[in-house]
Amino acid sequence: MRILVTGGAGFIGSHLCERLLNEGNEVICLDNFFTGRKVNIAHLRDNRDFEVIRHDVTEPIFVEVDQIYNFACPASPVHYQYNPVKTVKTNVMGMINMLGLAKRVKARILQASTSEVYGDPIEHPQTESYWGNVNPIGLRSCYDEGKRVAETLMMDYHRQSNVDTRIVRIFNTYGTRMLENDGRVVSNFIVQALRGEDLTIYGDGSQTRSFCYVSDLVDGIIKLMNVEGDDVHMPVNLGNPGEFTMTELAEEVGKATGRAINIKYLPLPQDDPKQRKPNIERATSLLGWQPTVALAEGLKKTADYFTGVVDAR
Ligand code: NAD
Ligand code: UDP
Repeated sequence: MRILVTGGAGFIGSHLCERLLNEGNEVICLDNFFTGRKVNIAHLRDNRDFEVIRHDVTEPIFVEVDQIYNFACPASPVHYQYNPVKTVKTNVMGMINMLGLAKRVKARILQASTSEVYGDPIEHPQTESYWGNVNPIGLRSCYDEGKRVAETLMMDYHRQSNVDTRIVRIFNTYGTRMLENDGRVVSNFIVQALRGEDLTIYGDGSQTRSFCYVSDLVDGIIKLMNVEGDDVHMPVNLGNPGEFTMTELAEEVGKATGRAINIKYLPLPQDDPKQRKPNIERATSLLGWQPTVALAEGLKKTADYFTGVVDAR
């Protein structure tokens, strides 16, 4: 198959491009390089089935493909809040452009949605049927509401124009190729620990997240794209149900890096969700998927990666 991956030079997108090439597909990686990097895909450049296009998804594009993975969008709060209007445009205009493309060439399209559609969730753990608790006018809204509109567009193009859609709601994912200055908690803690700096906990550290290693996530995403059936257009949660407070995460990072940990407490950002944990029963029954990499193991692999990056400075 010929497959388009938007955001393909980013953290998850680059792992996805690599896996799809290994499975014998042709891959077109589209990226505007806002948070993506050429180094993430440098090892793929000699593969004759790999192509890179510098392009912004807010502009239409004309290519002939069989499948589209729409991953273009900054994912870290630091980066998506840098230019919030652009984040909305990427999620809404980008989604319309990719759905228009899917409709024209009859490609199947998978949208990278997020657990952020649940906002600061009152239902715990979160199932796909939960509608969420989202502030429409806060600092996180450009991302949360942008992704919610993108889901609406996916469902409407499916119902109205019969576009073959898949929606994955990704819970916090981490691993190699995250940016050193990404701003998300796992990379922040690991980089801080390796540099001998204090780990920055926002708030009192009691908020929880569930962390999925990137290889597990990519497995689930590819399964979802290729599953057939009546029920496949409705959203699917993918994430690791292990739930940790940020204080516990800091301790785990100490073990994974082998460094002594000191904590610095900083103010909690606005609308920071208090708890998050996926219910993955739907993914398990529909895809036969469940994560296999435990937090300690994934943190070790990520710390090894960052040791190279941080030392190379
Ligand atoms: P990332 O920031 O590393 O990757 C995003 C990629 O999209 C980058 O390569 C960036 O340059 C590109 N991009 C951004 N705006 C673009 C635009 N307008 N046109 C073209 N390219 C653009 O983030 P990531 O963690 O790899 O996330 C990838 C996708 O998965 C995002 O859509 C994100 O919302 C979603 N997601 C990620 C997580 C997570 O925990 N990592 C959780 C939920 C959802
Ligand atoms: N966080 C933290 N220290 C950091 C970065 C983040 O304590 O250096 C907290 C943040 O407030 C949130 C959790 O870690 O409660 C996860 O944040 P992240 O930005 O990784 O993801 P998201 O909030 O989008 O789930």
